[in-house]
Amino acid sequence: MSVEQRLGDVQGRMAKAAREANRKPESVSLVAVSKTFEAGDIRPVIAAGQRVFGENRVQEAQGKWPVLQAETAGIELHLIGPLQSNKAAEAVAIFDVIETVDREKIARAVAEECKRQNRTLRFYVQVNTGLEPQKAGIAPDDVATFVRLCRDELGLNIEGLMCIPPVDENPGPHFALLAKLAEENDVAGLSMGMSGDFETAVGFGATSVRVGSAIFGSR
Ligand SMILES: *Cc1c(COP(=O)(O)O)cnc(C)c1O
Repeated sequence: MSVEQRLGDVQGRMAKAAREANRKPESVSLVAVSKTFEAGDIRPVIAAGQRVFGENRVQEAQGKWPVLQAETAGIELHLIGPLQSNKAAEAVAIFDVIETVDREKIARAVAEECKRQNRTLRFYVQVNTGLEPQKAGIAPDDVATFVRLCRDELGLNIEGLMCIPPVDENPGPHFALLAKLAEENDVAGLSMGMSGDFETAVGFGATSVRVGSAIFGSR
């Protein structure tokens, strides 16, 4: 299968999962995760019409996206990997959406940079639904306080919540928990689901799925 066919296949499976959940296919958007792939691998996906891409490293994104963005208008870039506060300025400059706001220090750093650079970004709060010690994210019990801090004190546009379920567990309960937390906190967006489980995530209400290897091939 070509990369265009794989993209079409993922879009078709997203739409089918949405219809099966009595949801409109256009209520779920696709973030094509292009991390580790080079500009030459990404161009055919852009040519096939995809405009929203996810990267997990600031430096890698800076290395390949300015050229691609000069070629095609309307690209939207999401940061889906951990952010260090010393990279906040660069992240705010290149990304449109930061999905990994996971602690107060980062929230303050990106808020400061948005003001300094006069940039308006959208943000997701990353939630550690499995309370995994090695994983980033706000604990489910702390989401309400953290979302309030981000919105009311820092003025961040919190568009949604994001999670990465533990690899060795059934993702369904984690997606359900994220959906419940979003509803309780009046947050509309749910970024959840990757190549292995995006259809399940759509069933639990994902508004955005982050799919890499099913489109680009294995890394
Ligand atoms: C790499 C990555 C993805 C995509 O994973 P695939 O299994 O390749 O679809 C999604 N979300 C995050 C946070 C990632 O780091």
